[in-house]
Amino acid sequence: MTFPGVAFHTPGRLGRGAVLDLGLACPHSCAFCYYSFLDGGPEQFAALRRARMRDTASCIAIVRAIAANGLTHLDITGGEPTVHKGLVEIVSEAVAAGLAVRCITLGQFLLRKRDGRRLLDRLLEAGLTDLLFSLHAADADAFAATCGGSLPTLLAAMDALDARGFQYACNTVMLERNRRTLPAIARLAVSRGVYAVNFIAFNAYHAWRGMEQAAALAASYTKISPYLEEAVAILTEGRVAANIRYVPLCAFPSLAAHVVGVLGVPYDPYEWRNRCLNHDRPPAYCAEPLPIPEEGVRPVHAFSPLAEKLPDGTALCGMRGDRFKLFPAQCADCPARNACDGVDPVYLARHGASELAPIPETTAGPLLKKRLGYRPAFLVKTSPDADMRGAMGEEWGGGKKGPGGKPF
Ligand code: SF4
Ligand code: SF4
Repeated sequence: MTFPGVAFHTPGRLGRGAVLDLGLACPHSCAFCYYSFLDGGPEQFAALRRARMRDTASCIAIVRAIAANGLTHLDITGGEPTVHKGLVEIVSEAVAAGLAVRCITLGQFLLRKRDGRRLLDRLLEAGLTDLLFSLHAADADAFAATCGGSLPTLLAAMDALDARGFQYACNTVMLERNRRTLPAIARLAVSRGVYAVNFIAFNAYHAWRGMEQAAALAASYTKISPYLEEAVAILTEGRVAANIRYVPLCAFPSLAAHVVGVLGVPYDPYEWRNRCLNHDRPPAYCAEPLPIPEEGVRPVHAFSPLAEKLPDGTALCGMRGDRFKLFPAQCADCPARNACDGVDPVYLARHGASELAPIPETTAGPLLKKRLGYRPAFLVKTSPDADMRGAMGEEWGGGKKGPGGKPF
């Protein structure tokens, strides 16, 4: 059976996705936000509250250049992109340029009226292809405590989309505070029109580097593992794809087909080939796809040997880039090392290296061969009304299902 509006991205080929950063302005307060403390001050979200958005004309110039560069998918992000006054016009221009357009949002403002009409309706009318919601908790109190938003408001936006048959995806950042609720988040996703959930490991980038608060946010892979395994089983039963991003390839050995690291994501169909975090750079710079060498690893992430011990006695055998990620001694003989990111230095300092062990997996460039065989990850939404859940179900050899195996 074919599913209109669903494309299959050949596993192992570079993706053709791009990102448009509208600017960092954001009213939300996600505990893990990568732009926390960005101004160097003590107020976690001060930089987001003061940030300005890029002007609409410049955004449209970037979008047109992205399409001219041969990229086919656009993620619009921020900050919170739905606070940008020109969002509808930008989406419309991107669609006119031939791009499939997805908006990444906490979903808090979609049902608010702007110029007398709901933003969601105007975005859909402009041709928006897809939405990627942040879903970090399954109950309202935990949701509010984690990001300052309202889960009922997000669910109301999902209801409006479900009523139209418009399917969408979710991001869930895995934290100490939500690891036990990952199965509940998966059940919530299956009960709605979600076709893929990206479980994202919190890594201490930007101003989080070296901060004690960063270490407290992240749970160890061992502690996350049983809940994540249950969540992935629930999603699989519900015919929803599950991706696990930015962890060492041995972090969840039973879920290896779902794991993809920083090295591997350029081969995922939705990932960004151009630069992000570029709010003050000219359009041509923002739209340029970054070259990926034949072997798949950019020079900035090259492996180099490193023979030293960390203060806790953990012996290292190598690093990627300039200590971007570290490899403990047991990685020296790992068959998957060429495809593995290694371990975040803050994670290593907090949790040590004892849970990491070589895995007997074969690799293809910077990916596990098992990942290449996980076909649901390579289905791509190219039109607003595409039945992604139906297409996922076909990949698994059965119909789409909701909670308890009932039809969605
Ligand atoms: S919505 Fe995004 S930019 Fe805003 S606080 Fe959350 S993670 Fe940060
Ligand atoms: S290289 Fe190291 S961290 Fe990566 S999969 Fe192998 S043992 Fe695990």
